[in-house]
Amino acid sequence: MSTLVSPDHSLHTEKQGLTMLDHVKHMVATDLAPITAKIDEGFYPSDVMRSLAATGAMSAHLKSPHGDDDFCLTLNAMALVSRVCGSTGFMMWCQSVCGLYLQNASSTYLSQTLLEDHASGFTLGGTALSNPMKSFAGIEKFQLFATPTSNGYSIRGNLPWVSNLGPSHYCAAIAQVLDDPGRQVMFLLRCDGDGVQLQPCPKFSGMEGTGTYALHLKNYEVAADEIIADPAGPWIKRIRPAFVLLQTGWAAGIIQASIASIRAAEKPLGHVNCHLVVQADELETQYETWWHDVMKLAKDPLGDRDDLFLKVLKARATASELCLTAAQAALLHQGAAGYVMSSPVQRRIRESHFVAIVTPALKHLRKEIARLEDQSC
Ligand SMILES: Cc1cc2nc3c(=O)[nH]c(=O)nc-3n(C[C@H](O)[C@H](O)[C@H](O)COP(=O)(O)OP(=O)(O)OC[C@H]3O[C@@H](n4cnc5c(N)ncnc54)[C@H](O)[C@@H]3O)c2cc1C
Repeated sequence: MSTLVSPDHSLHTEKQGLTMLDHVKHMVATDLAPITAKIDEGFYPSDVMRSLAATGAMSAHLKSPHGDDDFCLTLNAMALVSRVCGSTGFMMWCQSVCGLYLQNASSTYLSQTLLEDHASGFTLGGTALSNPMKSFAGIEKFQLFATPTSNGYSIRGNLPWVSNLGPSHYCAAIAQVLDDPGRQVMFLLRCDGDGVQLQPCPKFSGMEGTGTYALHLKNYEVAADEIIADPAGPWIKRIRPAFVLLQTGWAAGIIQASIASIRAAEKPLGHVNCHLVVQADELETQYETWWHDVMKLAKDPLGDRDDLFLKVLKARATASELCLTAAQAALLHQGAAGYVMSSPVQRRIRESHFVAIVTPALKHLRKEIARLEDQSC
């Protein structure tokens, strides 16, 4: 596999950024577009993921040696990919956010050695944070448990689904420390570690090619240099606005592509489609207003501040709602052509449902927004 652009983090100027997006655009057309149906049916596109990562598409938001980062660039790269394949766009989020954890890890092995391989796409990994995010929000109980050992922790428990995984991949996870109710530890979970079992998930209605597995852990030993944050609680509060905001890049691509599908049906079917309630112009205006807000938030999305988190939660909720509306409108405008199983319009309906149910799901977002605005159900 060739590396088209060095993943050197010093290349974050606008000019270089455009170059990176050009490479992403080219890869999407030549490598990704021909295999989207295969991915939808369950093929995990590891080569495409590695090539995309090698352009810097999943690391532009990480701090360069000069201290600058560019969340907008990562979001735009994700949007370009998700226009064509929402599953690959989602996995870009998994890889991007995992990189953010590694860069902010307390262990220098993770923040330097592993991060270098991760940012370049030499290694791939995901994020097992749905359960802890819901636990921190009081929605469900922790599913992983940590017992302190002389050199770290021993972990047990089960996670029903984690994406962008494979036999030699890893993900970041959080476990409740036993006998210490207020304390959680965040660590690197290696799929090939002793005591880890990777199991296939039930067949989903979409996102089948996302390398999603159930993880079963029994006496999995985490050494001190693979601990990301201990305690994890305060650390996660600083990272979570970026965790949530980065998902909007993936949603943006699905919305853009849905609007394009509506426009494509205008010529043959415009005489009757004009009677539909949702039209492309209005969707485009909503999209542009929303994306403008996302780009503003992306200038500085890290920090434990309620005002920042509330704005990010609202932008993420709008992402789900716009995705659902745009994907459904595209189907109504395209009619039977969009109902053919192999149609991208049909696939995007299923992808948009996933945007709305993956953590933070729309109901989770609404709960957190209500909490921060001091309202209850
Ligand atoms: C394709 C796919 C990929 C995902 N990738 C990731 C990922 O990379 N990282 C990650 O942390 N999470 C991942 N998830 C989980 C996802 O983020 C949500 O947590 C999940 O969809 C449940 O969301 P919910 O908040 O609506 O919970 P609800 O649907 O309301 O469910 C409540 C609880 O029941 C559990 N549950 C429901 N059905 C089952 C089942 N059949 N087997 C076991 N438990 C079940 C849920 O996990 C949840 O804990 C993935 C889910 C799917 C479907």
